[in-house]
Amino acid sequence: MQNSSIGEGYEDIRDAVRALCAEFPSEYHRKVDEARGYPEEFVDALTKAGWMAALIPEEFGGSGLGLTEASVIMEEINRAGGNSGACHGQMYNMNTLVRHGSDEQRQRYLPKIASGELRLQSMGVTEPTTGTDTTKIKTTAVRKGDRYVINGQKVWISRIQHSDLMILLARTTPLDAVKKKSEGLSIFLVDLKEAIGNGMTVQPIANMVNHETNELFFDNLEIPAENLIGEEGMGFKYILTGLNAERALIAAECIGDGYWFVEKVSDYVRERVVFGRPIGQNQGVQFPIAESYIEVEAANLMRFEACRLYDEGKPCGAQANMAKYLAAKASWEAANACIQFHGGFGFACEYDVERKFRETRLYQVAPISTNLILSYVAEHVLDLPRSF
Ligand SMILES: Cc1cc2nc3c(=O)[nH]c(=O)nc-3n(C[C@H](O)[C@H](O)[C@H](O)COP(=O)(O)OP(=O)(O)OC[C@H]3O[C@@H](n4cnc5c(N)ncnc54)[C@H](O)[C@@H]3O)c2cc1C
Repeated sequence: MQNSSIGEGYEDIRDAVRALCAEFPSEYHRKVDEARGYPEEFVDALTKAGWMAALIPEEFGGSGLGLTEASVIMEEINRAGGNSGACHGQMYNMNTLVRHGSDEQRQRYLPKIASGELRLQSMGVTEPTTGTDTTKIKTTAVRKGDRYVINGQKVWISRIQHSDLMILLARTTPLDAVKKKSEGLSIFLVDLKEAIGNGMTVQPIANMVNHETNELFFDNLEIPAENLIGEEGMGFKYILTGLNAERALIAAECIGDGYWFVEKVSDYVRERVVFGRPIGQNQGVQFPIAESYIEVEAANLMRFEACRLYDEGKPCGAQANMAKYLAAKASWEAANACIQFHGGFGFACEYDVERKFRETRLYQVAPISTNLILSYVAEHVLDLPRSF
């Protein structure tokens, strides 16, 4: 496959991440998947090489890179056959702390996160009874002296068992006491080691992807008031900035997946001979692969646009959402072409296609479903009447 011209100029990062990923070939990720394990050695290697601290400013021991560079790291991991889902939380959660944390919080946590002593891999937003309707969340944080007392429940909270800290969204002012439903929500840093067994319970959720995710229960969990990030009541706004970063990063991961599928299937159909000729000679086989490549390339343009705007501190909600939508769709179409033209072998674990197929399917639903992106664009970009 020819090199794409999109995203040129990050060759140093690409080469270095590719070299690290080459030490963890597909067999490694396949074995981790089969064992329903966590790619501990891989994430450790990324941390030691400094890639997990890409977004931490240099004064706190990180590399001070932008979201664009961070997205290149995530893309390369997926393009090499890995799954950034094991560690991408560290990237976008970090940004919430960097952008909205106090000086004291930044001094206290960022150097330790940069060195790998602490991991900030988890963000607790989704709840079982409210789903995507985030402003209706029922988890509450009530101030009692120098503590906040947390009660409620979260679902699908990822990487809790491989993180030291979690960013938690909770309601600090009841919904009926605020003017706008987005007000009265706050974000907190939760020290997971202190919380588990002291008011917080973790229930792992077995799922289709090898993705460590959990149900969380809070029963009078007490956290120090100093763990509030930014101003009380402004949490929804802060979370949205983090979610834009998350969407752009996940778009980049889908782009990495998309290129992986296109390359994998192109190599296969060039070699596989049926009816006396390579199956890739049939246009019925070529066209869906070519179409997928075109769609991945187009989505990649939107991903870089979203990252550019974010790095320049400009509004990027529309672009981050559109990048996530286009990239998740393109990688899913590429996954379908890849599994289809591998025939029966697409279902054999040793080809890695079925694993990547499952992994990329997630991004039609999480962290935001395609329908909710369409709704965002209809309402906020096209000014169509609000539907909910
Ligand atoms: C593996 C995994 C990991 C996750 N990790 C995290 C995490 O770390 N932290 C976290 O906070 N959350 C996490 N999530 C949750 C994820 O963000 C949500 O699952 C996702 O946002 C969808 O919410 P929901 O599951 O409640 O679906 P619902 O809100 O119940 O929606 C179900 C379906 O209905 C559609 N729908 C809903 N409302 C409308 C509407 N008004 N119009 C049209 N369609 C609509 C949606 O598009 C969706 O497809 C994770 C989920 C998974 C599966």
